[in-house]
Amino acid sequence: MAKKKKPTKIKCVECGNINYHTYKSNKMKEEKLEMKKFCKVCKKHTLHKETKK
Ligand SMILES: [Zn+2]
Repeated sequence: MAKKKKPTKIKCVECGNINYHTYKSNKMKEEKLEMKKFCKVCKKHTLHKETKK
């Protein structure tokens, strides 16, 4: 079978809009993702974090 990968949603911390999806490797699963991304709702670059299910 293929490798297991769980999609992770990446959310703007300012407006809460989910703008991106990513895949995390199992090695990274303990880490919280944080990244600067362009938010189309805020119309600027904001900090994005992964959501918790
Ligand atoms: Zn935003």
